[in-house]
Amino acid sequence: MADIEYFVEKSHRRTLSLAVKPDGSVVVKAPLFVRNSDIKRFVDSHADWIAKNVIKNAARSERISHVEPLTEPELKALKKKARELIMPLVHEYAEIMGVTYGTVAIRAQKSRFGSCSGKGNLNFNCVLALCPEGAMRYVVVHELCHRRHMNHSRAFWSMVEDYMPDYKEHRLWLKRNGDVLMARIGKQE
Ligand SMILES: [Zn+2]
Repeated sequence: MADIEYFVEKSHRRTLSLAVKPDGSVVVKAPLFVRNSDIKRFVDSHADWIAKNVIKNAARSERISHVEPLTEPELKALKKKARELIMPLVHEYAEIMGVTYGTVAIRAQKSRFGSCSGKGNLNFNCVLALCPEGAMRYVVVHELCHRRHMNHSRAFWSMVEDYMPDYKEHRLWLKRNGDVLMARIGKQE
């Protein structure tokens, strides 16, 4: 087996941690007192995990390498379209669930499809307008269920399932296509 190349960042932490960066480099975060030989042993013992993640990251980079980011006017149009598609769903589900909500913002974010604040203000990502209807519906149901459960507890997921029995299929679609969709946002927010 070839030696694994890695970078070590030592700091006042208590445990060793391992990460594979998007470019495939391996970084070990280590406490100041840990010897280099122990760090090497730690890395070697995680060789399979590292190999798996290097491949995963390379596949991800390949998937998003051909994605053309949306232009400013395209993003603006997409936000408008997303609002038109999402607002009726928010109304519909809030009513059948019997929950309230505050403001609804449509954003161009690279990190998430939706969020719900403690005050009930909802955020939705404009890329939802590029998703299948079921996936968009799932994000609306998900965020509105946070009006009852501000967490991802078993009770939360069972509420999601009550209102959308096939939600797992849509969640999986978003998981599989999320990186390509987010790459279309470019450098926004
Ligand atoms: Zn959530």
